[in-house]
Order: sequence, then C-alpha cells, then structure tokens
Amino acid sequence: MDNRIYVEFDSISSNEALARVIVAAFLTRLDPTLDEIEEVKTAVSEAVTNAIIHGYENAGGTIFMECDIHNDEFTVTIRDEGVGIEDIKKAKEPLYTTKAEEDRSGMGFSFMEIFMDSLLVESEVSKGTKITMKKKIGGR
Ligand code: ATP
Ligand code: MG
Repeated sequence: MDNRIYVEFDSISSNEALARVIVAAFLTRLDPTLDEIEEVKTAVSEAVTNAIIHGYENAGGTIFMECDIHNDEFTVTIRDEGVGIEDIKKAKEPLYTTKAEEDRSGMGFSFMEIFMDSLLVESEVSKGTKITMKKKIGGR
C-alpha cells in the first residue's frame, strides 16, 4: 500500500536526529535492510543539516519534509525557504563548500548521491532549496 507523510519542524540541530528517526520508522513497512536504513538516514541528515546551516544560516526557520512510498520506491523531499543556492552544479561537486572555515568538507551532496538512487536539487536564490531523493527498498 502506498503511504505518505508530511512533517515540518524547526531548523535546529537537534531536529536532524529527529528527521533520521522519522524516516527510519516510515521505511520499516518496506522491510529495509540495515544498510538501506543507514544509507537513507545518512542522506536525510545531510540534507537537513544543509538546510539548517546553509539554508537558514543557523538563524532558524522551518524545514519541510515529505516521505512517500510507492510500490517499493521510497521518495523523500527536504525543503527550506532559506538563502538558496547560486550555482547548483558547483555545489554538487565533491569537496565544494562555501563554509570551509567552519570545517565543512563539501561531501554532503556526494553522500546523498552515493547512498540514494537519485538526487534532484532545485533552488532559487533568496527563495529556498528543495532536495528530492529516491531509493528502491528491499532489494535483498
Ligand atoms: P559537508 O556536508 O561535507 O559538511 P557542505 O555542507 O559545505 O559540507 P555539501 O553538503 O555538499 O557540502 O553542500 C555544498 C554547498 O552547497 C554548501 O557549502 C552550500 O554552499 C550549498 N548548499 C547546500 N545545501 C544548501 C541549502 N539548503 N541552502 C543553501 N545552500 C546550500
Ligand atoms: Mg552539507
């Protein structure tokens, strides 16, 4: 059976752990492997962290997360209404970061790409950013 949830939460770092728990719980119905759960949780926490520190620049805001199951495919979108990304292609490159001085490694998008089947980044400067990721679950 298809399923969908929509959650919005404050842009504070403790909600990164909350988002991880929510997606893991939501995924359970698809009988995921431990690896699949870890991969999805990692991808989601990278996207949520980005919304908190880059999108809202640690100043607070609201993060919108939608999770969807259709057949054996899981889709998650994470959206912020923050500063947006000027050059999406560049932002997705491994090791590219605009916060090197804060010890960021620029690997967030790379992890999302590696751990999920697909990654779509949509963004508009001063409007916000929407990340859509998909992954087939239960392929053991
Ligand atoms: P790391 O994830 O390794 O800690 P990082 O966050 O800088 O470092 P990525 O997650 O790959 O690396 O993101 C690359 C860049 O894309 C960021 O440095 C930032 O400039 C931009 N970016 C990512 N997500 C957002 C967002 N939600 N809003 C605005 N800018 C973003
Ligand atoms: Mg990041």
